[in-house]
Amino acid sequence: MLLSPRSTLDLNHITGWIFDLDNTIYPAESGLFPQVAERMTHYLEATFNLTRDDAFAMRRDLFERFGTTGRGLMEEHGMDPAEFLSFVHDIDLSEVVYDEELDSTLGNLPGKKVIFTNGTTEHARRILEAYRIDHHFEYCYDIIEADHRPKPEAAIYDDMLARTGIDASQAVMLEDMQVNLKPAHDRGITTIWLDHELDWAKSGMTAPHIDYIARDLKSFFRSLR
Ligand SMILES: [Mg+2]
Repeated sequence: MLLSPRSTLDLNHITGWIFDLDNTIYPAESGLFPQVAERMTHYLEATFNLTRDDAFAMRRDLFERFGTTGRGLMEEHGMDPAEFLSFVHDIDLSEVVYDEELDSTLGNLPGKKVIFTNGTTEHARRILEAYRIDHHFEYCYDIIEADHRPKPEAAIYDDMLARTGIDASQAVMLEDMQVNLKPAHDRGITTIWLDHELDWAKSGMTAPHIDYIARDLKSFFRSLR
């Protein structure tokens, strides 16, 4: 079911597809992102010699103030985030298996497909390869290419569009974090919010920068048939 606060979706003019990675390419219900989050807490615990509760609080604080924990470690602690990023993304992918529906859906989508992530290209590559869908994507614009400025920082959307060669007015962006769709919408990109909770009481439901809402990637594409 396509859940749209506005009108029906016209994809005839679409030539570019911009996908977030975490909780978008794989469903939010999967156990993957909790693994990343757990490794972040563990990294802070070990690096700063904190209790688990304090490490959790630090992660939350850095995320809230800097947009990503890695950016917070750079800004506040002068750390090179490379080691942190490679540690937190070293997750177990044994639950990720080939998904024929996902593969064929992506294969049938006309236009250029790219990944736009606050994680790393290496993390994206591992997940896309585990699903065996990596060949559908022409580009991955990651946090390193963004010089550690995370979504929703507006400037990186322009950089991403320039690097990928995607025309904003002919593009769709799919993302689970609603706030990350605002700069996309401001640039004329059609925005699809993947809200796995589908909580209609959320204030974001009527946010003007959300064009369409779906539960997850596959239900979005099913709704187009
Ligand atoms: Mg995400």
